[in-house]
Amino acid sequence: MILVTGGAGYIGSHTVLELLNDNYKVLVLDNLSNASVESLQRVEQISGRKLTFVQGDIRDEAGLHELFSAYPIEAVIHFAGLKAVGESVEKPTEYYDVNVNGSLCLVRAMQKAGVSKLVFSSSATVYGEEAPAPYKESMPRGTTTNPYGTSKAMVEQILTDIHAASKNTANPLDVTLLRYFNPIGAHESGLIGEDPQGIPNNLMPYISQVAVGRLPELSVFGDDYETSDGSGVRDYIHVVDLAKGHLAALNKMFSNKEAECAIYNLGSGKGTSVFELVHAFEHENGVKIPYKVAPRRAGDLATCYAAVDKAAKELNWRTEKTIKDMVRDTWRWQSNNPNGYKK
Ligand code: NAD
Ligand code: UDP
Repeated sequence: MILVTGGAGYIGSHTVLELLNDNYKVLVLDNLSNASVESLQRVEQISGRKLTFVQGDIRDEAGLHELFSAYPIEAVIHFAGLKAVGESVEKPTEYYDVNVNGSLCLVRAMQKAGVSKLVFSSSATVYGEEAPAPYKESMPRGTTTNPYGTSKAMVEQILTDIHAASKNTANPLDVTLLRYFNPIGAHESGLIGEDPQGIPNNLMPYISQVAVGRLPELSVFGDDYETSDGSGVRDYIHVVDLAKGHLAALNKMFSNKEAECAIYNLGSGKGTSVFELVHAFEHENGVKIPYKVAPRRAGDLATCYAAVDKAAKELNWRTEKTIKDMVRDTWRWQSNNPNGYKK
């Protein structure tokens, strides 16, 4: 059985679906602070399989001990956390508590229960501002510019240290750090997708809420970057490809002869600009996205995309879906569910 923390959320729910499709038994732990159980009901509907859901907090160590005693957990995929960059600047205490302290509670509970395999949701943000794209896993982590990014870098370091310290013990920690680039899109059924609370911070959910009429227009943050059309360039990855990357990582861990601390980028390796994404959305879906050009957003980089060779070689995984698939699937989800999971 695989424990998936944060499994009711955006990336978690898509990964739970792929796990069930691959015949894994799944236990989801989520405190529902940024999700609804409706996503998991829909995952069961799509897959035709049942999962086990426990509502709880990763910081509740006693609760975690009970969970590890009650279920035959072989590995953990750890998504649970807070993820809004701007909010992390306002509420650093909460971000470090959930993301860092929560991860420590989880690892302690795993070690007590003798569970050694852990996949952690990290982010391309840990490369910092100094590194030029494409980002390679062999580059050192850079300077993070907000508590969210710093919390991811801290957990990477903590897990690296625990792996090193436990390497020659009876229960070495086998860790995979997955650095996501920009996950967008939704499952092609249109039943599960991203359901941000309040006004979205990220580009794709913003575009789709403009398309559905929940927001009047998009602000394009800067058209004077040194990129092909002046707007920011990112590496967008379809959430279903991303979910499959987790399965590839897990399957590799199950075949590892020795515990490792491995790092993989999960990205497409291709850069797409803001204008390109807007135009692809309009063209593929036959909708208009009103936009205006606004000043650059503080802290934004011009260009960010992944080197993808390591994941291709060692995980035998690479993205399959295109930008067209991403904008089409996002729109199917958003237009079928204009208010997300809320009725
Ligand atoms: P999400 O908010 O949809 O999912 C996170 C889930 O964790 C939610 O279901 C939430 O209810 C749950 N959660 C939060 N705090 C918890 C706690 N204390 N105990 C138990 N559950 C808790 O976010 P997502 O986009 O699916 O992201 C999943 C992970 O991937 C996060 O760790 C995020 O930082 C990381 N990540 C996301 C992106 C992205 O662009 N979406 C990029 C890089 C990394
Ligand atoms: N962006 C934008 N308008 C928005 C949100 C984002 O122009 O309302 C731009 C942003 O400046 C960046 C790209 O879209 O160039 C992706 O931003 P997002 O916040 O989705 O991802 P991140 O910057 O964290 O990679």
